[in-house]
Amino acid sequence: MRKHLLLILGLFVFFLHLVEETKPAQNNYTIPTFKRFTLNDVLSNESIVEFVQDSILKPPYKSAYIDVKWGPLHPRILGLTTKVKDGVFFIQLNRGLSLKATQKVLMHELIHVYQFHYNLLEDLPNGNVRWKDSVYTWSMAWKDRPWEIHAEAWSTKLFKTDSLYLEN
Ligand SMILES: [Zn+2]
Repeated sequence: MRKHLLLILGLFVFFLHLVEETKPAQNNYTIPTFKRFTLNDVLSNESIVEFVQDSILKPPYKSAYIDVKWGPLHPRILGLTTKVKDGVFFIQLNRGLSLKATQKVLMHELIHVYQFHYNLLEDLPNGNVRWKDSVYTWSMAWKDRPWEIHAEAWSTKLFKTDSLYLEN
């Protein structure tokens, strides 16, 4: 059982390329206390591993390369997914949250990867965006965006806290 889990984690890490920022942004920058967990801690959530294995890497296998990094994001933006090109994605996570909240955000962002990867969501020129068969604009309010409603519904259903990290 444990061997099986380690194998899954091994496969998972293969598809997620981790980049940790090591150099301080500025001399007067205070290292925040929530840096007590790493990106590896965030990624080791079992429900996230399962989602990557069962949904993003489902048959017919389209390999996805997903780079996850702490992003220099506006404090109100918790996570951001960018499709770099076909099969290559970049997820930025806000460093200001608890481990559990960061994992929930990562699950949400991985669902955006799924949406892009399986052609439900497409970034179009001139501020437009396609969701399934309809075209919207990015100026649409977050809460009204159907791809956000979908990502929230799925992440609420699929994300499960690891008991190990309950205290966070
Ligand atoms: Zn979103």
